[in-house]
Amino acid sequence: MNTEFFAAWIDEIATAVRARRDHLTQLDAAIGDADHGANLDRGFTAVREALAGASPRTPGALLVLAGSTLIRKVGGASGPLYGTAFREMGKAFGEAAEVSPAELSTALDAALAGVRRLGAAAEGDKTMVDALAPAARALAQAVRDGLKVEEALEAAAAAAEQGAGATVPLQARKGRASYLGPRSVGHEDPGAASTALLFGALRTAASR
Ligand code: ADP
Ligand code: MG
Repeated sequence: MNTEFFAAWIDEIATAVRARRDHLTQLDAAIGDADHGANLDRGFTAVREALAGASPRTPGALLVLAGSTLIRKVGGASGPLYGTAFREMGKAFGEAAEVSPAELSTALDAALAGVRRLGAAAEGDKTMVDALAPAARALAQAVRDGLKVEEALEAAAAAAEQGAGATVPLQARKGRASYLGPRSVGHEDPGAASTALLFGALRTAASR
């Protein structure tokens, strides 16, 4: 996976977030403040513009720029968290011109660690971590099983999707939704849903 691949990923994310903006906002209206779709749409539109302006030469530089742009452009909880995730992935790639599934897996672990460090959420707290952690685990398993890139990313996307769906019966223990206490039960977490979108976009980028 080279710089072009990660640029395609960002492109797919921006398109998917735009298509699902109202849905993400509805999820956030139920247990938050109804801005998640707008936040991410603004953020990834800005990332696409930043990449077009800077033409980063390596996957690492591209993802670090994406992360910094998200931190700058997206307010709320999700901007710094997603920004950190992308920056940590980019830093893990270093100067490499191309990365393997194993390196992507290591970078995802770094992204997850960064999100956990910043947000202090564990799995089961009804946050993006509930989609990110199983996706990272599925990718690691796919690498151990020697799957091809497309299959490995399919497994990660399926795990993120399943993790997001599994947030419905949970009570939120982190973020704005936690203020609702038991009333947060019965709704999908918006950040987990958007994380599933990011992994769906990664799978799409691999097959395009
Ligand atoms: P805000 O809650 O500030 O309005 P967003 O609506 O953009 O920000 O994002 C909300 C999402 O952020 C939540 O659905 C949840 O997945 C994620 N989130 C919030 N707090 C945390 C945290 N401490 N750790 C991990 N993810 C979090
Ligand atoms: Mg919100």
